Amino acid sequence: MIPKEKILKNFFGYDQFRPLQSEIIDHITAGQDCMVLMPTGGGKSICFQVPALMMDGLALVISPLIALMHDQVQALKANGVRAEYINSSLGMREVREIEQACKDGELKLLYVSPEKLFAKGFLDWLETLPISLIAVDESHCVSTWGHDFRPEYTQLGTLKRSFPKVAMVALTATADRVTRKDVLKQLDIPDAKVYISSFDRPNLSLTVALGRNRVKLIEKFINDHRKQAGIVYCLSRKNTEQLAEALQKAGIKAKAYHAGIDSALRTKTQNEFLNDEIQVVCATIAFGMGIDKSNVRWVIHYSVPANVEGFYQEIGRAGRDGMKADTLLFYSYNDLVIRKSMVQDSNLPSDMKEIQYAKIERMKQYSEAQICRRRVLLSYFNEEITKDCGNCDVCKNPPQRFDGSVLAQKALSAIVRTKESIAMGMLIDVLRGSNSRKVFEAGHHTIKTFGVGKDLKYEEWADYILQMMNLGIMDIAHDEQHVYKLNGLSKQVLSGQHQVQLVHYKPFEEKQAEREAYAPKEKTKKEIIKDTLFEHLREFRKKIADQKKVPPYIVFSDATLSDFAQKKPISKEECLKISGVAELKYQQYGEMFVNEIRDFLKSVSKSSAAGIDSAQFSYELYKEGLDLDQIAVQRNLSPSTILGHLSKYYEEGVDIDLMRYISASDYIEITNMAKQMNIQKGEAIKPLFDAMESKHDYQKLRIALTIWYRKG
Ligand code: ADP
Ligand code: ZN
Repeated sequence: MIPKEKILKNFFGYDQFRPLQSEIIDHITAGQDCMVLMPTGGGKSICFQVPALMMDGLALVISPLIALMHDQVQALKANGVRAEYINSSLGMREVREIEQACKDGELKLLYVSPEKLFAKGFLDWLETLPISLIAVDESHCVSTWGHDFRPEYTQLGTLKRSFPKVAMVALTATADRVTRKDVLKQLDIPDAKVYISSFDRPNLSLTVALGRNRVKLIEKFINDHRKQAGIVYCLSRKNTEQLAEALQKAGIKAKAYHAGIDSALRTKTQNEFLNDEIQVVCATIAFGMGIDKSNVRWVIHYSVPANVEGFYQEIGRAGRDGMKADTLLFYSYNDLVIRKSMVQDSNLPSDMKEIQYAKIERMKQYSEAQICRRRVLLSYFNEEITKDCGNCDVCKNPPQRFDGSVLAQKALSAIVRTKESIAMGMLIDVLRGSNSRKVFEAGHHTIKTFGVGKDLKYEEWADYILQMMNLGIMDIAHDEQHVYKLNGLSKQVLSGQHQVQLVHYKPFEEKQAEREAYAPKEKTKKEIIKDTLFEHLREFRKKIADQKKVPPYIVFSDATLSDFAQKKPISKEECLKISGVAELKYQQYGEMFVNEIRDFLKSVSKSSAAGIDSAQFSYELYKEGLDLDQIAVQRNLSPSTILGHLSKYYEEGVDIDLMRYISASDYIEITNMAKQMNIQKGEAIKPLFDAMESKHDYQKLRIALTIWYRKG
């Protein structure tokens, strides 16, 4: 067998395996069954694609979503891997051809939908082929416990009986303990080894904002993420349409997507998004399942999602390429009320409703968290991280803390003395020495801790207890009316071995108002050149993608483009060192990019290396084809400063098309007035501005005059 490292480099262009990938590959190539749990974007595909290329024969991949199959096969082909799919989207003839290719041993991977798999005669035919391994993607779909159960998946258990000696690997991004066990049982591989990777996605930034002026804030957010693709998840269909319309009015390429839109239009919108033709999709949760677009750079939640699982899956659609991506959640108390009433009005049985309420409550806790949000999220998935992440709004703007050990000891001791039988409301009543009947009936007024926390208000205790829970110093038993339970850390706190840092209580509104607006810093020239090259290559990628009729991220991922912009390879040898460029990809695409980079460097960075001034640098960027606003964004300077730079060159007679920035009618109107007022070069503009009753801004006046002066 060819060594796995070599396959990774030669076919995928990567130098290193991510955690667990290597072990999983060894396990599969040894012919053993296993289950792989990794978050979205974690790199599951490599786990079966590399073995497929190492082993003799044909790897069978079961996948529930046509779009996903299409995407993966396209990506494999771009890397020079012989892969195909068979599903209901293909015609008879295409299917025949692929079947022939399988027989002739020409393929390494075959993707099949479950429907096709159990279509008459197909399985028998498969049994005649040398199957190397079987991968079941999105394997949580076999379990009725999972959130995305597919009835077609239930027959998959028979696969193992048809291929008892073939290694089977089940992959999923979401499976709690119950679902996990059920998946293994349904697939008839109960003893398979389970590999669980961390669910942390450190490249996703986490921010929560107060749900006010949402549309304005979203516009601003998108302007800070120019040209970067993103998704806004909305609560209702109407909401998606209204928002898309508002964004369109603001000049942003946005479209709505929801289950009520006819399917042809939906497909069109999805494709435009995949192909970087629209920037923003305003969607209900229906959007995003089964799309592999790796360069989604941000996700916004217009309102609070129904549960943490859904939230995590949705933000997980950003930054799958591992590059920095931003997420923003709008939070308001009113959203919670709406969510709860949706549960109330649903026809769920009452115990299910209780669970849904509890899940909404966890979203509230996340939104109001005073400690690193990533810690809160991961602790929800039973994963503890010991360090703050540094990439969430709380970490970036940490609140003042105090030693809350005594408060924690009071709360914990009340939990001990009530024999771990009380939930939040009762706990606070006990601590505050409430006269409520419930307390007396339960006899809690007789315990020693009764009333030790009188000095704090109810909301204060509620806030601190939430903080304690988020810090993991006690557990909550959701299946026992949410009563608190002690854990290992509780005991350390009680015995004074573990200090508890709390944040002073403040109402949510007050807290959020205090968080400072983020101020961008001016970039260095080197950074600008890198970013400009990135932009340049992105446009180039789009051109190539359109020619080859594939989505841009199939040509190269954003991560690879970024590596290009950083390392600026100008030879084949250098290019092959870029992460994501393998031999075949180099031949197909890499060489063109190397040429493009060479040309770019000739124009921009040579002059910069010679030490150019600020105005000249703006001019260089102008020559690169960036418009005024783009140069301003790249340099973090105002458009009028850039205009000043360009005007300087224009006045010297350099060929700059300033008329691009002003309409002919405005130009005529302004210059007529200037003529009338007999304005001379070098004079102040304010009188002209006033005379035109502030109809045109200073920037426009300046453009008009600059052109006018040069014309003489
Ligand atoms: P998942 O299926 O788990 O959602 P993917 O298999 O699509 O994730 O992988 C996500 C991204 O990470 C892809 O762009 C993939 O090429 C990339 N990737 C996977 N493994 C590696 C690796 N070892 N080194 C670099 N990039 C990788
Ligand atoms: Zn953090």
